[in-house]
Amino acid sequence: MEKVYLYKETEYTEQSMDALAEKLFAPYGGVKGLLNGKKRVLIKPNLVAKKPLDTGTTTHPLMLRAICKALLAEGAEVTVAESHGGPYTTATAKGQFSGCGITEAVKDLDVSLYTEAESAHISYPDGLIAKSFEVIKPLAETDFIINLCKLKTHALTTYSGAAKNTFGAIPGMRKFELHARFTDIHHFTRMLNDLHLALPVGLNVVDGILGMEGNGPTAGIPKKYGFVAVGKSAFLTDLICADLIGLGSAEVPQLKDAAERSLCPNKGGYEHTNLSREEYEGLRCADTTLPDSHSAGAVSWIARVQRMGGGRVIKLFRPKPKVKKSRCVGCGKCAEYCPVHTIEMKKGKPRIIRDKCIHCFCCQELCPISAIYIKTNRILKI
Ligand code: SF4
Ligand code: SF4
Repeated sequence: MEKVYLYKETEYTEQSMDALAEKLFAPYGGVKGLLNGKKRVLIKPNLVAKKPLDTGTTTHPLMLRAICKALLAEGAEVTVAESHGGPYTTATAKGQFSGCGITEAVKDLDVSLYTEAESAHISYPDGLIAKSFEVIKPLAETDFIINLCKLKTHALTTYSGAAKNTFGAIPGMRKFELHARFTDIHHFTRMLNDLHLALPVGLNVVDGILGMEGNGPTAGIPKKYGFVAVGKSAFLTDLICADLIGLGSAEVPQLKDAAERSLCPNKGGYEHTNLSREEYEGLRCADTTLPDSHSAGAVSWIARVQRMGGGRVIKLFRPKPKVKKSRCVGCGKCAEYCPVHTIEMKKGKPRIIRDKCIHCFCCQELCPISAIYIKTNRILKI
């Protein structure tokens, strides 16, 4: 099985990122060895929301710039493409690149930032739960994808790294259709894995220099995990990162599904990396704050009760989105983006109609000022 390469890193400077880019490609014989004759390279960053860089929400522009420079030096044609949260149009794509510092970072490089907002269909006959997807066009046409993501905990999927990052291949509001179609978290994460496997991802880079803990992907707390992980297998790379931040595969539905499909082992550890046991343990961050929606065993507990037909019991115990009315500015984005339209704006404030809520936490993810939080039943915290 492939190895995951771990590098201790603590800062984003042009110099440190240039050195990192060299290290990222070195195990594969440099850029040339990795691409093996392929020319068109697409970088898929994480630009989920326009938030300041010190929140750890989005791909750092200097890291992306350094990777672009390394690829261009070997003659690759480089495109950067991402469908962020919310509607995806030429105007929003341009705004996202510029608001996340990407436009400025690559302005002197021969790199194409994709803003045409067109889509294309890809099929994946081996998919377990989804066999075709509509994705943003350049991801369907490229030879090789470099998946450049952030290390975060996540309110819906518990952990978010490489295999979750490819959900940004789905154009804008189409993401909400998939949330509405796969309401069970195990079905949803299985679909995410099908999507990841359907794309020609050749390298995964998980940036934990500054990532996020708590209620990620947008409303969590910045966290200096202090390392970068790189691997050809998104699942193995995620397994290692999750292990280092204190999450086992049983607690992360996407990794549980990957292990069941033999896409990665059940358990992470130094033996799957370039590090000695001692070096690996030195990177461990055991004090990670998990999302409020997560509690030890809750994911498997909910799945067990669901299988036993305990739908009503689940409803009582399930973590729920709640609006902090004093913080809310009444922009209405949560109501606009809720995939099942279960948020009404009343007197300028959102009201969540609980019966129809599918607990996807899109409202929490897309609220621009983090006015939505997740309320967990106290029993699940025990
Ligand atoms: S998205 Fe946030 S700020 Fe806007 S209405 Fe909803 S809760 Fe309020
Ligand atoms: S209210 Fe929030 S969590 Fe519930 S379905 Fe709508 S977006 Fe998802």
